[in-house]
Amino acid sequence: MDETLIPENPYLLLTPGPLSSSKGVRAALLRDWCTWDGDYNEGVVQNIRRRLAGLMGPKAGDFTAVLMQGSGSFAVESVLGSVVPQAGRLLILTNGAYGQRMVRMAETLKLPHRALAWPETAALEPAVVDQALAEDESITQVALVHCETTTGILNPLPELTRVVKARGKTLIVDAMSSFGGLQFDAGDLDFLISSANKCLQGVPGFAFVIARRTELEKCRGLARSHCLDLYDQWREMEAAGKWRFTSPTHVVRAFLQALEELAAEGGPAVRQARYAENQRLLVEGMRALGFETLLPDSLQSPFITAFKYPGPDFDFLEFYRRVKARGFVLYPGKVSRADTFRIGSIGEVYPEDMRRLLAVIREIRGPA
Ligand SMILES: *Cc1c(COP(=O)(O)O)cnc(C)c1O
Repeated sequence: MDETLIPENPYLLLTPGPLSSSKGVRAALLRDWCTWDGDYNEGVVQNIRRRLAGLMGPKAGDFTAVLMQGSGSFAVESVLGSVVPQAGRLLILTNGAYGQRMVRMAETLKLPHRALAWPETAALEPAVVDQALAEDESITQVALVHCETTTGILNPLPELTRVVKARGKTLIVDAMSSFGGLQFDAGDLDFLISSANKCLQGVPGFAFVIARRTELEKCRGLARSHCLDLYDQWREMEAAGKWRFTSPTHVVRAFLQALEELAAEGGPAVRQARYAENQRLLVEGMRALGFETLLPDSLQSPFITAFKYPGPDFDFLEFYRRVKARGFVLYPGKVSRADTFRIGSIGEVYPEDMRRLLAVIREIRGPA
């Protein structure tokens, strides 16, 4: 495909996803595939599954990847519904809207569960989790969000993994908005969930689960949903790279291109450095223009940043429209107790884009 034929986007998406994708990824969408032909099953699906498991770090060989139709939440629901046994009990740790969404899923699925909540601007605390697990022996699984996209907070995954695994529980991690965007060591976690259209920079349409093989093997017959049965989807895929039901073929092929581009960029460590530089420039420039971040720098991820409204008269929608007219789409806030808006630093976005954005905001706002 001649990439010069791919149209330019009218504006850059500075959002939590879907993100601005590369022309190479968009070009890869432009042909059709047969879902039972080897070109697709082996050449695309199995290739993707091997690459995904390979991103899990030193113990990658213990993991197997399962692709799932739908957005990221479908994959989260497939894990919660397929992993917790009838006699088990799920502990959900929350400090934002995506943790809360897992609680809603558990309620809808009628899973035995308990939630442990922190404020949206505080990180999950491993010592408190350890105490909760010590006091309640009925817990069998623990679920948490790595980067809470609500605020952009990065929860301390290595320490949380240590306390959960030291107590012998299965650990489920929603790494939707972090996976692929940072140098990663899965350590001893059991199920990691992410989607095509976040830091891996594909287009939306499916999500995936990277599971510890020995844990996934225990999930046969546990699912509360036929379509979202993680175990059955895995068995089918493992056999010959087939999905149980129609897969979003174009999106899947574009995702392979996105994974190849990640490797060409230098892998997650190099991508992390780019995102971190985007975010550093953004925060430094916004502070110079009189904006404050919601979080202290010590809790902030490099993926998305929440800014407080600069004053009671700030009209976000008007600001949004003026910034969009100059080529950048921002994102509304999601925290419950403060007026915020968010700016993403992920996707096909580079430091020069951040400098252009800051020049636009400076022009709109005038000097601080
Ligand atoms: C994006 C995201 C999801 C999934 O959202 P969908 O709209 O279903 O794709 C889940 N968890 C986190 C932390 C996210 O950032």
